[in-house]
Amino acid sequence: MATTTLKYNETTNYIAGKPEANGQQRMDVRSPLDGTLISTVVLSTANDLDKAVKAAEAAFPAWSGTPIKERAQIFYRYRELLLKNREELALLVHTENGKTMEESYAEVDKSVELTEFACSLPQLVQGELLEVSKGVECRIERKPLGVVASIAPFNFPNMVPHWTIPNALMLGNTMVFKPSEIVPISSTRIAELLKEAGLPDGVFNVVNGDRAIVEAISDHPGIKAVSFVGSTKVAKIVYARATSTLKRAVCLGGAKNHLIVLPDAHLEMTASNVVASMSGCAGQRCMAAAQMVGVGGVEPIIQQMIVEAKKLVPGKNLGPVISKVAYERITGYIAEAEKAGAKVLLDGRNPQVEGGAKDGYYLGPTIIDHVTTDMRIAQEEVFGPVISIVRAKDLDAAIAIENANPYGNAAAVFTQSGGLARQVMERASAGMIGVNIGVPVPREPFSFGGWNDSKFGTCDITGKSSIEFWTQMKKTTTKWNPEGKTNWMS
Ligand code: NAD
Repeated sequence: MATTTLKYNETTNYIAGKPEANGQQRMDVRSPLDGTLISTVVLSTANDLDKAVKAAEAAFPAWSGTPIKERAQIFYRYRELLLKNREELALLVHTENGKTMEESYAEVDKSVELTEFACSLPQLVQGELLEVSKGVECRIERKPLGVVASIAPFNFPNMVPHWTIPNALMLGNTMVFKPSEIVPISSTRIAELLKEAGLPDGVFNVVNGDRAIVEAISDHPGIKAVSFVGSTKVAKIVYARATSTLKRAVCLGGAKNHLIVLPDAHLEMTASNVVASMSGCAGQRCMAAAQMVGVGGVEPIIQQMIVEAKKLVPGKNLGPVISKVAYERITGYIAEAEKAGAKVLLDGRNPQVEGGAKDGYYLGPTIIDHVTTDMRIAQEEVFGPVISIVRAKDLDAAIAIENANPYGNAAAVFTQSGGLARQVMERASAGMIGVNIGVPVPREPFSFGGWNDSKFGTCDITGKSSIEFWTQMKKTTTKWNPEGKTNWMS
């Protein structure tokens, strides 16, 4: 099909400050809102990656030699451009990912916050200096690594790129970025806006593609560090492959977040929080509530959850899931659980869609009770607007259920008791804990990252922890007193 008929131009690579597309294979980009073809995306080869790495290598000396406060000026301008283009960027997220406009605006707003944190980095990376003996000083500086890479998933086309781009570049690195081939368009706009803000050519490059390009990134000898966000299966592959070629890597994987609900929890607040967590972005968030562990008499809360969930109308305030494949995977989990004896309290399959957008991949909120821990729906990541409810006889049993799942992104507890909440804070096996909050995302300057099968690598991906990941320490010892005593250490 001729690209001129598409809503968005062909999505090409962006190398050394300009679009670049040479004879690669193409893939269709479809909107989950109605299944229409909105763009095509180039599937790059290792040669294309090589060009991007060369551009990033060429840009590195001047960029890393630019004082950090000057680099910050570009990101202050970039922040203004995010705000100026907020509506267009949100519409792009809505169109390529399918989430609602409200959710898309929130995503862009989070990108602004991430950029603001990056602008504060000059205050956080001053280094250290100490006179260790008379006239002898040791100092530590944080230096960039060189060319780094960042690989993203489909579920946050605007925000997840901002987890890495502003911090890595502010700290003096140059980057090759690989968006999800399912939602590649937002990243081109990010590259254009960075250029408009004054970022020198080659500092930020976008290489589009699928598995082949991720493998090429993992192997490329010119890339010093790789960050990855996506499913656990791929996170493990990328972590193993990138570190086997001696790169540093942080790879964030999937999730199965457990929300422990105690009978003393606030009825309305708990129900609305749990439903918002399970259904926001159509459940396609690594911080989404996937499994509720009900302890004791939580029936009134479950009934209120049904009331809350019924307020969500597909096509109005609930977006579609990303693809037909995703729809079938999710409904497959529901059917299997039902067959195994679980009770579907609210069924989102084949929903009525507001406005009649029947070709989109819509699924209403689905609440499934009496799930048992041996069912596949209790163990695996479903990634849709679905919550399963398992029952536990007491808090110890509930925590044991949370601990037994292999993931560890987030866990939450809903209760009015500080003492019981404290137990979950201490004993849940997850990197991000919520107390009476369903989506416990740490805000800047705190860092984002899970435990267990939800993250491979030592640092977190955002916040202060990311400074450690994107830099290396240079330690210098100076002595300017020739008359000073010399001993075995000098
Ligand atoms: P995905 O793993 O399928 O894809 C992520 C990236 O890896 C994409 O850029 C894709 O092109 C590439 N890729 C896919 N298969 C590959 C393979 N076999 N080898 C090498 N590269 C490959 O993930 P997705 O479906 O795009 O995103 C959803 C997943 O991401 C969910 O599991 C979700 O929980 C997870 N996620 C995690 C976090 C977090 O912070 N932990 C945040 C967002 C999303």
